[in-house]
Amino acid sequence: MLWNKVDQRWKDRLPKDRDGDVSWKTEQWPVPGEDPLEVRVCTRDKVKVSSFANCNEAPRTSIVLHLTCGYGNFTGLMGGSDHSASAHFLLGRCGTPYLLVPTEYTAWHATWWNNNSIGIEVDNIGGLHPVGDDMCSEYSSKDKKDVYCKKSETDCFLEKTFGGTKYWATLTEAQYAGLGKLVKALCFKHKIPRIIPPDDLRYKAFDKANPKVRQNYRGICTHVNIDPARRADIGPYIDWPKLIAYGGITEADCYNPPDSVAQTWNDPKGGAAAAASGGASGAGAGASGGAGAGASGGAGAGASGGAAGAGASAGASGAEEKLPPPVIIDSHTLKVRVGKRGGRICLSVK
Ligand SMILES: [Zn+2]
Repeated sequence: MLWNKVDQRWKDRLPKDRDGDVSWKTEQWPVPGEDPLEVRVCTRDKVKVSSFANCNEAPRTSIVLHLTCGYGNFTGLMGGSDHSASAHFLLGRCGTPYLLVPTEYTAWHATWWNNNSIGIEVDNIGGLHPVGDDMCSEYSSKDKKDVYCKKSETDCFLEKTFGGTKYWATLTEAQYAGLGKLVKALCFKHKIPRIIPPDDLRYKAFDKANPKVRQNYRGICTHVNIDPARRADIGPYIDWPKLIAYGGITEADCYNPPDSVAQTWNDPKGGAAAAASGGASGAGAGASGGAGAGASGGAGAGASGGAAGAGASAGASGAEEKLPPPVIIDSHTLKVRVGKRGGRICLSVK
């Protein structure tokens, strides 16, 4: 099956230092509280980075997550496509990060959001549709099937309707781990708070007409926020609790980051920092705006993902629980998020 071939191709690249006209050297990037991240720094033979990126250095304030919706083509993200697109990182199916554009420069991955952002392309074929016994990619036509997997191979795709598509190829476990660590390294490097909007706001379109949106946003977002009319990467079809756990990411207001999460870029435990003040699992709770679902989702992710003990400790120490701090979701809404245990309430003020 094709998914198998693609995954194998990424693994086959690991002992090499070149693929086509792209070669790489390794660098070690610091990650707070962990071993450094090995990054493969790529260059294209005879093609200057200035032909597919703006090389004026500028501060980076957000990270945009994408899916390649393709087959992990280096040159296509280093100016090789007909529209000269580029991205800072391509994350292999093996979880290895390949740096295509220096993060100080502006890559061309998200139109009006390019300035001040870092684009990560997670290699994944994207949406699938059933044809007979097969699941086919968007590159299928009537004449030629592009088979990704069998319908029976339910461990490499899932059903989740989003953006008009019903089935999606899954990320590999190595990608979740690799993406989590890459987010940690990038946030540390550029002092970006390791935060993401709660689930109920995560896929909301950004207000393009309001210049303050791009100026004020801090943290992680996805391409679907920036170009919802044309893009569905990345929607609710990935395992967000898992990524949040691996990346030590806190769910918070990214326009006005609360003090409790503003420094998470520097914190080995990320969201756990807010836990110490009573807020971390609260960040999870904020996802649903209610008490139960988000809280248990956050705790479960923390435990199964093995990322720090944020969720686990918050959940286990019932007697010592404190109310989480208020989180301002936008300028009009105040939510006090409270877990599902007795004595805790959920308040939303508009
Ligand atoms: Zn995208």
